[in-house]
Amino acid sequence: MNRAEFLDHIKNFNDYWDVVVIGGGATGLGVGVDAAARGYKTLLLEMHDYSKGTSSRSTKLVHGGVRYLQQGDVSLVIEALHERGLLIQNAPHLVSHQSFIVPSYEWWNGPFYGVGMKVYDALAGKLGINKSKNLSKEKTLEKIPTLEPEGLRGGVIYYDGQFDDSRLSINLAQTMHDQGGYPMNYMKVIGLEKNGKGFIEGVKVRDMLNGDDYEINARVVINATGIFSDDILEMDEEGHKKIIQYAQGIHLVLDKEFLPGDSAIMVPHTEDGRVLFAVPWHDKVIIGTTDTPVDKAILEPIALEEEIEFVLRHAAQYLTQDPSRKDVKSVFAGIRPLVKPPDAKDTSEISRSHHIQVSESGLVTIAGGKWTTYRKMAEDTVDQAALVAGLDVKETPTKELRIHGWLKNVDRKDHLYVYGSDKVALNKLIEDEPELGKKLHPDLPYLKAEVVWAVRNEMAQTIEDILSRRTRALLLDAKASVEMAPEVGRLLAKEFGKDDAWVEQEVKEYKQVAKNYILE
Ligand SMILES: Cc1cc2nc3c(=O)[nH]c(=O)nc-3n(C[C@H](O)[C@H](O)[C@H](O)COP(=O)(O)OP(=O)(O)OC[C@H]3O[C@@H](n4cnc5c(N)ncnc54)[C@H](O)[C@@H]3O)c2cc1C
Repeated sequence: MNRAEFLDHIKNFNDYWDVVVIGGGATGLGVGVDAAARGYKTLLLEMHDYSKGTSSRSTKLVHGGVRYLQQGDVSLVIEALHERGLLIQNAPHLVSHQSFIVPSYEWWNGPFYGVGMKVYDALAGKLGINKSKNLSKEKTLEKIPTLEPEGLRGGVIYYDGQFDDSRLSINLAQTMHDQGGYPMNYMKVIGLEKNGKGFIEGVKVRDMLNGDDYEINARVVINATGIFSDDILEMDEEGHKKIIQYAQGIHLVLDKEFLPGDSAIMVPHTEDGRVLFAVPWHDKVIIGTTDTPVDKAILEPIALEEEIEFVLRHAAQYLTQDPSRKDVKSVFAGIRPLVKPPDAKDTSEISRSHHIQVSESGLVTIAGGKWTTYRKMAEDTVDQAALVAGLDVKETPTKELRIHGWLKNVDRKDHLYVYGSDKVALNKLIEDEPELGKKLHPDLPYLKAEVVWAVRNEMAQTIEDILSRRTRALLLDAKASVEMAPEVGRLLAKEFGKDDAWVEQEVKEYKQVAKNYILE
């Protein structure tokens, strides 16, 4: 993918796009892939970088959601387990099986969760992973040696999926382009164009890299802007009734020694009645999350002190070694775009199923849902959008569509596995220029070649694009990522033909973002 080429194509495209998607998170990218794969001329506009919003800040689980089973939302669990199965088939390089242990500290925990997890297994049907089973205390501690042994009676082991959220976003953008679509980053929709009858005929966009404005014609416009959905609805109809409720969730990242081995921990009932996960991820452990109502939609949310204390307190309760603030390698926050029901008491009770609405102007809005179900959300949305736009009705091919980078049996010990089938080309880059095979930091595995690759093939524009979403340095070790920033800046400057002053400014901007991921 090359942004300059995309821009040229858009400028020279004098026709109507069949589908214009606003938002390049899981939802928008899923819609973009679906529409392009059905053969519709599709353009996606993302105001920042792909998955800069909520979609790079998840717990990284491709799951049915044990919690939704507890809440009795069986249809959502069945749908999500089905989608989990499809995603494991369609992106095997990025989605892996993950074992979870539910530790039992009360006599009734084992039988209760044992039966619950059997139901969870059964709901997955043919696309199930391994079967869950009860474990003795010894077996539980064998799997998780750092689990608090005092009062432990045993555990239940079950399986779900795990992935790298922002890498999947990049691969979805690439898939969309492979299918003939154009996913543009750094393009903000600043207005909706309507005809005399009030029907939407296009959008007004601003190139966030140089301030240029364009008008783009569309047969249908899809609002897939997550927590910003109400802003687009407001452009459509002043004073509209707000549909989104914001709920923030945070994660702390610790060194792997806090949770050695391959299994994750799932705590089914925290102080506030939610679930909490501690999951191995890219040789670290991520622990979270919280569910805190917040009143604003922002791209760079900040973890609250009470959320940090909550996660640290629960981690200390279940781990032999109590993590303290100085052990935290990174803290990241994300905001869920929940669709407001009229009567939910708190945000953790709001269903995670998705919601599609069509405005009088023909604007199609898709909101809610979860990463795991992005494909189904996209299918439902494009079905609806095709009707609104009067496009030829076509079935979605995405159930069996391989996602860019598709490769089975990747070697997860080599951190380059996330590139899937692109790893060969990345290695060729290093072969041609051995200097690019050098690491960017002694504490993280990332290579200089990944920066060059991300600029040339994945439309990375800034240091933050590279350190937060092409690699995951910011989430894995925020301080180390700041130390990497000048070298990443120099590599970017070489690719873009920029000077030292540009690098200095880029590094300054990166430090500004990264400081909120560092706990002092
Ligand atoms: C803490 C937390 C943990 C989670 N864990 C999981 C999990 O483990 N598994 C799971 O399945 N789900 C999980 N989820 C849910 C999942 O992450 C979200 O449902 C999903 O990422 C939402 O994607 P989205 O595309 O709707 O929103 P976003 O990712 O926020 O994308 C919306 C995009 O729209 C863009 N945009 C906004 N306005 C404009 C404009 N005017 N012009 C152009 N672009 C615009 C934004 O820049 C943004 O990139 C979690 C969520 C949170 C908060």
